[in-house]
Amino acid sequence: MTFSPTLRPDCSKCFAVCCTALGFARSADFAIDKPAASACPNMASDFSCTIHQRLRPRGFSGCTVFDCFGAGQVVSQRTFGGTSWVKDPESKSSMFAVFKVVKQLHEMLWYLSEAEQRAFDPELAATARQLTMDIETTSQGEASAVLAADVGRLHAEVRALLMEVSEEVRASYGAEGRKMPDGGIHPGADLMGANLAKKQLSGSDLRGAYLIGANLEHSDLTAVDLLGADLRDTRLHGANLSGSLYLTQPQINAARGNRETQLPERLTTPAHWI
Ligand code: SF4
Repeated sequence: MTFSPTLRPDCSKCFAVCCTALGFARSADFAIDKPAASACPNMASDFSCTIHQRLRPRGFSGCTVFDCFGAGQVVSQRTFGGTSWVKDPESKSSMFAVFKVVKQLHEMLWYLSEAEQRAFDPELAATARQLTMDIETTSQGEASAVLAADVGRLHAEVRALLMEVSEEVRASYGAEGRKMPDGGIHPGADLMGANLAKKQLSGSDLRGAYLIGANLEHSDLTAVDLLGADLRDTRLHGANLSGSLYLTQPQINAARGNRETQLPERLTTPAHWI
């Protein structure tokens, strides 16, 4: 399965937009209060992070989970032509506002890319392609065009398409009518801390489920819809997620696993797992 490299973050081409535009309250994930539109004190003058290798021990684990889906470099280099908000302070508010929209658009592109490639119905694949082209056109436009985008409408269209593809893919794994091994397996399920180790879950719908701290070790999650599922501290050691649906790097970064965890090709094993 191939995915556009523009959907992968390239911090070397970004003006640390996420480290500046976004605001964070002090928490277990971010050690300090940082207002939106202010540079993080850990940011160096070349926009790199001075504590990049020590983020977790220094209390900034949230930074190791975050992923902009490539929005940072696109906004820095394409929308604003390679001129940083430091060199052109007047562009600052516009750049940060555009980043927040482009990040959402790129996240949609990430999901659509998978939906197009996994759909069995050629019409669904064609719809995914058309939506992809529309969103790419918007995200690559001028700042004013990006800010005028109807993100809510696009979200709704993408979500409907993703659900249709999910039903198709899960049905191919016998999800329809299947008696699930645990009665609590359904979209949005509260499975915090649940023991689902060594389960055959293929074809299940866990979209939006709360799997915080759940044990999924050595389980088979092939064709399991994990769109928006909360995987914070979920135990994935030895689990097979190579064919799961709509999994993202931030979800994996927030979970726990090991070298034996099988991930989709487009995702990478987080450094803190090994
Ligand atoms: S700690 Fe580093 S990665 Fe996190 S916001 Fe600050 S500069 Fe960015």
